[in-house]
Amino acid sequence: MEQPIAVTRQSFDDWMIPVYAPADFILVRGEGSQVWDQQGKSYIDFAGGIAVNALGHAHPQVLAALVEQAGKLWHLGNGYTNEPVLRLAKQLIDATFADKVFFCNSGAEANEAALKLARKHALDSGNREKNQIVAFNNAFHGRTLFTVSAGGQPKYSQDFAPLPGGITHTPFNDLAAAEQVINDHTCAVIVEPIQGEGGVVPAQPQFLQGLRELCDRHGVLLIFDEVQTGVGRTGSLYAYMNYGVVPDVLTTAKALGGGFPIGAMITTDKLAKTLGVGTHGTTYGGNPLAAAVAGEVFSLINTPEVLDGVKQRLEWFIAGLTEINLQYPIFSEIRGAGLLIGCVLNPEYAGRAKQLTQLANEEGVIALIAGPDVVRFTPSLIIPEQDVKEGLARFARAVARICS
Ligand SMILES: *Cc1c(COP(=O)(O)O)cnc(C)c1O
Repeated sequence: MEQPIAVTRQSFDDWMIPVYAPADFILVRGEGSQVWDQQGKSYIDFAGGIAVNALGHAHPQVLAALVEQAGKLWHLGNGYTNEPVLRLAKQLIDATFADKVFFCNSGAEANEAALKLARKHALDSGNREKNQIVAFNNAFHGRTLFTVSAGGQPKYSQDFAPLPGGITHTPFNDLAAAEQVINDHTCAVIVEPIQGEGGVVPAQPQFLQGLRELCDRHGVLLIFDEVQTGVGRTGSLYAYMNYGVVPDVLTTAKALGGGFPIGAMITTDKLAKTLGVGTHGTTYGGNPLAAAVAGEVFSLINTPEVLDGVKQRLEWFIAGLTEINLQYPIFSEIRGAGLLIGCVLNPEYAGRAKQLTQLANEEGVIALIAGPDVVRFTPSLIIPEQDVKEGLARFARAVARICS
């Protein structure tokens, strides 16, 4: 048998288009909330593949669902429907406000579908001028040209002009400012209930309630981008359930597949009619392999034990992080919801979040950043207490190195 090609971190620089700057080690295996690199060094995983591996790595029941479906049917294309995708649709409908589901492969694609639905819905209503989209500064909605334009970080879009038009950005959590730009020409408002990439910034309840009222007043679709906050991340199945504000359209991805790529846009019966046969689609959307995995992930997470367990785990994190911060006052604020946790660096350490996560890697823990000043944790929703303790002990050593 041929030997597999030898690969090292250097191979990345040699062969990959350099849109990422990955860590200087290569992970090869994971189990629960631990991962190991090529050299056998262990890490506690507080990143969960950026809020994706919500049940950790190699969860036995998810693995079994994958293997079972892999032996049956991988892919058909959308000329033929399949059992796993229909079951997953029913699970999403039963658990949320929605009546109808569109499946795709990523968060960006789910948002792309939502924005297209909003434009077409307004057009179908007979109002050609009703095509404006309102989005928020610092928002993140994906990397397609439409979604990166809806996102509120010009550094991600400006080099790709001309950009899709008709998108206005306004400050997050500023209802008065939103009121200035939402009017009868607006077809959609797209918002993250908690801005993830933008620094782990929760929306204020009055802000989302106010957006709901403005949307109702002007006949605007309210789109919640729950790609990061969805599927249990905040301790409720979807964050809108915490806020008691129901959107017209919701997008979900990341944790939905637990590591297998899948995304979905969910909406009401009435709005679903907008996207008739042939108006939208994607080759892999609703792929049986992805849907079988997601179905298992969804039913494992959507239980009181797992969702309440998220709140319990947040307490473990807060206790540990508070203790670290007493010894080394490095954070000015710890914010977020459930297991979407943002630790904001003191002005003294501004801009050093990336450096801190690199030191954390050296100490054997994987963490994320959310902008230059925020360290972000999005671990498995079922991470054991022992792993939280050990991971935070390792993280404390990284903090000690930066503070001394
Ligand atoms: C990650 C993310 C996206 C993009 O999802 P992809 O699967 O990378 O396309 C969109 N919105 C939010 C809020 C996200 O966190």
